[in-house]
Amino acid sequence: MEELTTDILVIGSGLAGILSALEAERSGLHVLVLGKFAIGMGTNTSLASTFTAVNPRFSKQDHVRVTLETGRGLNQRSLVTTLAENGFEAIETLRRYGVPLVETGRGYVLDRPETISQLAGVLFLRILRERLEGGSARILPGLTIFDLIVEDGKIRGAFGFHRDGRPYLIRSKAVILATGGAGAIYRRNDNQRSILGDGYVLALKAGLPLYDLEFVQCYPFVLAEPRLSTFILYPPYSNEARLLNEQGEGLLEASGVQGNMNQVILNQRDRLSLFLYEASQKSDIFFDLTRVPDGDWERYPLNVLKKSKFPFRERPFLILPAVHFFMGGVEIDVEGKTAVPGLFAAGEVAWGVHGANRHGGNALTECAVFGMAAGRSAAEHVRSTGEAQIPSDLSPETLRQKWERKANRYLKKRRGAFDHPQDLLKDLKHLAWKYIGPVREEGPLKEGLELLASLETRVERIYPATVGDLFRKKDLENVSLLIKAILKGSLLRTESRGAFCRKDFRNQDDQNWLKNTCYRLKKMEIEITHRPASPSP
Ligand SMILES: Cc1cc2nc3c(=O)[nH]c(=O)nc-3n(C[C@H](O)[C@H](O)[C@H](O)COP(=O)(O)OP(=O)(O)OC[C@H]3O[C@@H](n4cnc5c(N)ncnc54)[C@H](O)[C@@H]3O)c2cc1C
Repeated sequence: MEELTTDILVIGSGLAGILSALEAERSGLHVLVLGKFAIGMGTNTSLASTFTAVNPRFSKQDHVRVTLETGRGLNQRSLVTTLAENGFEAIETLRRYGVPLVETGRGYVLDRPETISQLAGVLFLRILRERLEGGSARILPGLTIFDLIVEDGKIRGAFGFHRDGRPYLIRSKAVILATGGAGAIYRRNDNQRSILGDGYVLALKAGLPLYDLEFVQCYPFVLAEPRLSTFILYPPYSNEARLLNEQGEGLLEASGVQGNMNQVILNQRDRLSLFLYEASQKSDIFFDLTRVPDGDWERYPLNVLKKSKFPFRERPFLILPAVHFFMGGVEIDVEGKTAVPGLFAAGEVAWGVHGANRHGGNALTECAVFGMAAGRSAAEHVRSTGEAQIPSDLSPETLRQKWERKANRYLKKRRGAFDHPQDLLKDLKHLAWKYIGPVREEGPLKEGLELLASLETRVERIYPATVGDLFRKKDLENVSLLIKAILKGSLLRTESRGAFCRKDFRNQDDQNWLKNTCYRLKKMEIEITHRPASPSP
């Protein structure tokens, strides 16, 4: 087993991870950053583009107001205020790191030649990666964390496997969880394939509760043509773009949402996604770009579509909503601290900013504001606690032996794997989309739980025959646990709110459900309680 020691371990190399590492290394402490792939690769950050933050036309009060309105009463108010207060400072820091951000409607976008078709996220991650590589932080790509090490109630490090199969024990005085969300647990999603909610399960297994996992945001405009990937149609949308049903009738007008596509996509994704999803049960839904002037196709974002062989310019094409973002996650305070001393979290893995639905552009700002805060707090934590708190019975040798035994358990080979892990993952993703997709209902939710139980039995029988299976088995276990949590949480919430829709309880019920849902793992079972949401002003 490989053993490493550091002061601060950052798990994840999307925007939250990179910025927390850059901030932490300013303290002069040893920082280690790792991710499943190379820095920035396989991250949802690489797909993103817009930051919502204060600018001369969008005040702090505006930012707080639109975030709370979109979140429908379930946001953590202190986090929303921090987001709005520190958003511009985060933009300034990004600019200092060399990311050229310019003002746009309610925030900032990358200043780039319009004719370049590369995604904005890829471009700004490249700048940040170079910055990180030029600094003092150690970078370890290709390592997947399987467990956080918590001893005596405090974080001690993490355990994982390199993609070549070598187990790693990493001792660290502070750990920052920046593992992103879980959109790819669904069959229809626009996330990177490896974004499977690892961080949520790491936190649950470390004894932390998760909040509001049942709130999952869909993006309304995602390709649904059979031979194309589920690629998101990026804003801004041309005034000539239209949403049509099979009869060629305009759907935006019929949806009841207020405003044009570019306004709606910021704060009414929930309503539009729901409308389109339900409309798609009766008729195919098409996006029509045939009237868009030629010049627009040379510019971002349409020049991204232009690279495809598909005739986007010549005929309307099929779209359908797809899972985009997880509002739920790990509870943090305004400094990114979790309830486990020494463990911090930032980015999509964290909960609280968005409430029941996310305002567009707030995820990147959240990564920036709370990523930097987590980096600073982790450094302060290490400085203030030092080595003094390591319990005497936790000698390096004891810890090594313990995790060597654990590594052997993960690697145990046995007969009995009748299923191919990839087929099982597909089955789980289908189940997620069908039963905990955009619309949920008591009968199907119960049916989903029954079906999941039989899939869980099949997952249990999988033993890793290859290094690849080792990772797939973990993915299967994580995905089934998260699906179970969302099924159970959805069954209990007998209302509709934001991105959460119950077909059998269509209305928002503030009298009974102005509450956050708390998920805990007890003896490998999900336990759910509720607590009142943070009060309105
Ligand atoms: C198509 C698309 C477009 C979007 N556009 C926008 C936008 O314009 N504006 C906006 O605000 N938001 C947008 N979002 C949302 C936003 O991109 C994400 O919420 C945000 O980038 C998440 O960043 P993160 O750093 O938390 O995680 P990610 O960027 O997803 O990074 C997660 C990291 O964690 C690592 N990791 C995960 N599990 C493990 C493990 N077990 N061990 C080791 N490493 C692990 C991964 O390898 C990766 O490095 C978009 C999302 C999508 C899908």
